[in-house]
Amino acid sequence: MASSNHHIPIETEFKTIMDSLPGMIRISGADNLFYFFNKGWLRFTGRTLQQEYGIGWTEGIHPDDLLRYKDIYAVSVGAHTEFIVDYRLRNYDGSYRWVAEQGSPRFLPDGIFSGYISSCIDINEIRETDRQKSEYIQTEALAREQFLNEELASFNEELASTNEELASSNEELASSNEELSATNEELLQSRESLALLNNELEHQVKLRTAELSRSQDDAINQRDRLKRFFMQAPAGICILDGPELIFELINPPYQQLFPGRNLLNKRLLDAVPEIKGEPIWDILQNVLQTGKTYEGNELLIPLVRNEGGAVEDRYFNFIYQARYDKDHVIDGILVFVIEVTDTVLTKLKIQEEAERFQTQLNAIPQIAWTNTVSGEVDFYNHQWYNYTGLDFEQTKAWGWKDVIHPDDLQYNLKTFDEIIKGKVGGEFEIREKRKDGAYRWHLIRILPITNEDGEVARWIGTATDIQELKMLQSQKDDFISIASHELKTPVTSLKASIQLMDRMKENPSPVMLPKLITQAARSVDKISELIEDLLDASRVNQSQLSIVKTTFKASEMLEGCCNHVRIEAKHELIFQGDKELTVFADEHRIDQVVINLVNNAVKYAPNSKTIYLIAETAGDYVKISVRDNGPGIAPDKIPDLFSKYYRAEYTGVQYSGLGLGLYISAEIIARHGGRIGVDSELGKGSTFWFTLPINH
Ligand code: ADP
Repeated sequence: MASSNHHIPIETEFKTIMDSLPGMIRISGADNLFYFFNKGWLRFTGRTLQQEYGIGWTEGIHPDDLLRYKDIYAVSVGAHTEFIVDYRLRNYDGSYRWVAEQGSPRFLPDGIFSGYISSCIDINEIRETDRQKSEYIQTEALAREQFLNEELASFNEELASTNEELASSNEELASSNEELSATNEELLQSRESLALLNNELEHQVKLRTAELSRSQDDAINQRDRLKRFFMQAPAGICILDGPELIFELINPPYQQLFPGRNLLNKRLLDAVPEIKGEPIWDILQNVLQTGKTYEGNELLIPLVRNEGGAVEDRYFNFIYQARYDKDHVIDGILVFVIEVTDTVLTKLKIQEEAERFQTQLNAIPQIAWTNTVSGEVDFYNHQWYNYTGLDFEQTKAWGWKDVIHPDDLQYNLKTFDEIIKGKVGGEFEIREKRKDGAYRWHLIRILPITNEDGEVARWIGTATDIQELKMLQSQKDDFISIASHELKTPVTSLKASIQLMDRMKENPSPVMLPKLITQAARSVDKISELIEDLLDASRVNQSQLSIVKTTFKASEMLEGCCNHVRIEAKHELIFQGDKELTVFADEHRIDQVVINLVNNAVKYAPNSKTIYLIAETAGDYVKISVRDNGPGIAPDKIPDLFSKYYRAEYTGVQYSGLGLGLYISAEIIARHGGRIGVDSELGKGSTFWFTLPINH
């Protein structure tokens, strides 16, 4: 047929069919989120598919019907069974209209549950006419009853007056026989009209009886319908009759709450005596007295499940609603109930576990927190609040973003997002703002916590302060490039000397050769000096710096050291202080420290003609100082001078060096139990000093 020319993809075709149907249809997936609403539905609610999508549609349900809807829906969804529910749904014009919805579970050919398809019809009209009809029937019946009563009364009156007439006729009979026949005629007439009235009365009574039996039928029908609804409803429903609260009606789900227990037609307290003294009893009494509907949510009611069994802690969601008789007097209670014990117990267990987990997180030294599956933070440990100085309200959910350095935020949010979408966790580095405003680098680790099914249930995150490590890393990177550069200079010069010597090896120049040899030797010295420093630094790192102590005179050591400086003669080294002071230390290592301090003075204070070497006592220590009259050191740089790889920058002037000398010196002095430091002021020179335990 022509259909092959108009090929429509199946989804579109399906959608077209659904859209063309007059009713409201919607479809959910296996995750119970509604993803399809046909045009009929959207026309009715006046909303878009996006607005209705997922659970958006619940916004349209009348607030008074929502709880009931959810309860019915939840039970069916749990059991994958059909649900029928009526409720008020917001129309596009803002008014609420009654609709009846029937949802059927869908299963794949292999029997796997794949969601619901539900159709919904507008029953507002029907409900309205139903209501009007029963109102009409009631008022009509009343009117007819009234009319008949009036008829009867007037008939009685007529009867009475007829009797009177009869009496007077009898009197007249006695007085006048002539009038007898006339009187008889009148009597006959009265009888006729009595018969007429009787007929009329009978007719009215028949009418009324028919009317009554019709409304009785209606009432019976309605009762049957109601009963069917009660019996088929997925929630537990019962009717407690009268002040004694006698179980008048129990639907199967209600009975299911007490399997094997006999409730019907029994007084509540006789059937379920364990509730006596429980708050629930007072609640019921209150509904009976005030008529106020009571809604209980996850309420604990200790109840026996099977006859003779033990009392169990059970939790219920329920509604107690007063029932009224025709005189509008409360004559019982309607009970709607769903047992939620499993849900509540699971919730309590999860809560308990979460609390235990949070206590553990508070015990670890790092900042830690937990995220929901979607990534929102729902808990931080104490360390977070100590570090940020903020509270939970300020940082919950996504509030932590304000703590992250703006430059790190965008990239890391992406990483975070990817981690949350996966199942294995991950890590990244960011700067986090401390309460004093300083940003410090942190290593963030995100790990999943999975449930029994292996699904991610939540995330746990930790932040480890790696500021020092980061600093060291960047210094180390700088250092490697400096070290290569420092080594390259003497190696290049050594290479040049060797090349020149190679060229003249057949005919060596007596002037150049010694110069080249000296040059080469100096380069080799420089190289081995640098290598020695590097080795020392790594020895310090591995705690292998060996110290061999002997007793020696500080003055002798100071006067004998730094001959290279003395030979160069650009600076004068002057000893000051106590010549007799002896120390117990590693002479070679201390010599190395002094050489380093003197070399620094030569390097950084080139214009300081005199360099003082001073030995003096300071308590139980010998204090040795190297003083220059150089440029001095800025106060903010002093604290870092003795750190590894640290080199203060001097704008415009480039000094060679590895930034290791003072670091190694400080380690050597520390090994001797002494202290090292510097007194310096910009423009006034520097005095580097260290102390060693005195040898008495
Ligand atoms: P290096 O000399 O290899 O750079 P050091 O650890 O010996 O490494 O010195 C660290 C830093 O201390 C130097 O880079 C320099 O900025 C500063 N410094 C050391 N001694 C002096 C001094 N006498 N005067 C001024 N600055 C100095």
